[in-house]
Amino acid sequence: MSFVTHLESAIDGTHLPHDQLQTLHDGRPLWVRYDLDAVAGTMSKEKVASREPTMWRYEELLPVDDANKRASLGEGMSPMLRCDRLGSAIGLHNLWVKDESQLPTGSFKSRGLSMAVSRANELGVTRLAIPTAGNAGGAMAAYGARVGMESYVFMPTDTPIVNQAEAAWYGATAYLVDGLINDCGAVVRDGTPHMNWFDVSTLKEPYRIEGKKTMGLELAEQFDWDLPDVILYPTGGGTGLIGMWKAFAELAEMGWLSSSNLPRMISCQAAGCAPISTAWEQGDRFADPFPNAATAASGLRVPVAVGDFMIIDAVNESGGQARSAEEDELLTWAQRASALEGISFAPEAGACLGVLEQLVAEGAIGREERVVVFNTGAAQKYIEVISSRLPTLETPVDWASFGS
Ligand SMILES: *Cc1c(COP(=O)(O)O)cnc(C)c1O
Repeated sequence: MSFVTHLESAIDGTHLPHDQLQTLHDGRPLWVRYDLDAVAGTMSKEKVASREPTMWRYEELLPVDDANKRASLGEGMSPMLRCDRLGSAIGLHNLWVKDESQLPTGSFKSRGLSMAVSRANELGVTRLAIPTAGNAGGAMAAYGARVGMESYVFMPTDTPIVNQAEAAWYGATAYLVDGLINDCGAVVRDGTPHMNWFDVSTLKEPYRIEGKKTMGLELAEQFDWDLPDVILYPTGGGTGLIGMWKAFAELAEMGWLSSSNLPRMISCQAAGCAPISTAWEQGDRFADPFPNAATAASGLRVPVAVGDFMIIDAVNESGGQARSAEEDELLTWAQRASALEGISFAPEAGACLGVLEQLVAEGAIGREERVVVFNTGAAQKYIEVISSRLPTLETPVDWASFGS
């Protein structure tokens, strides 16, 4: 059995039972709450260290009751890569990249979807539906297949071709919707009473956050329970940033962190779709829908986030910022960083690097500070972006004419 005690409305604190399917409360997301004293009494750093290198090594802090119901493909424990070459290009001496490009389906969406599909499986769901800007649909289709569920995936017509293909490849019924991810969400909502599917939209069920939370748990373990100074995260719906901040709060309450200094959380968006940074810069807790959302960083093309206040609260509590990078800046950084480090940087991570460069130039991040950037996906999933920036390739020549 898990150590979950109940679910709690993030907007008004109402308690809800966790032993049945839940969606939103008053249109807003739910937190999963645990008996952390009991967790601290059972879980130990030594036990965790001895377990398999997946996100399930933190099982006491996860919501799944029955390990046999897990939808798992070996997700988690992604590498924390020190990046000195990229660091010196930006002006930092202690830069790391947590590389999520190596996870199942090529993005960190596998964490959230593994957890959400596992809990849905445990609670008897057999049919799933998801609106997606791209990677979430592929991940849901894969995990749905893993436990024999039926998957319906709805994505905008201009979703990257690899995302369109992977959903279908994993056996989902995939649809293209003329609009953005929120329009796809409306199609799922309209279909629910007729199709009786479970809506796995970002933050509309409580467990994706718990999957994404494992990024924070891993990061803490990889830094030997002494967290870095700054974390940069590319924000769409915000699940990862919200989840990591929750992870740090839980670890702190358990007494597992060696310092009470928590990292400054930097929410990074693309200037072409920046509802959170716009709201944060205005001092607002809730974000207005972002008009004409457009960016090649498709995971960031989320004009309306139902957890906007949860993202902004985490940023503010941490002493962080919510910022954005211009389109050309984020694409240039994603490519440059890939060439500097051999890591497959997605455009979304390019937004973090653009923002990082700005913050270092402003003096908001010091050169000696320990900084972690999340690379949330693999560049090869964005074949249109890569192709558009591909130079004309050479044909081999007579090498002798090259001289020495
Ligand atoms: C979905 C996605 C994001 C945004 O993640 P959220 O947790 O929804 O904010 C960032 N990068 C990539 C590659 C994504 O697929």
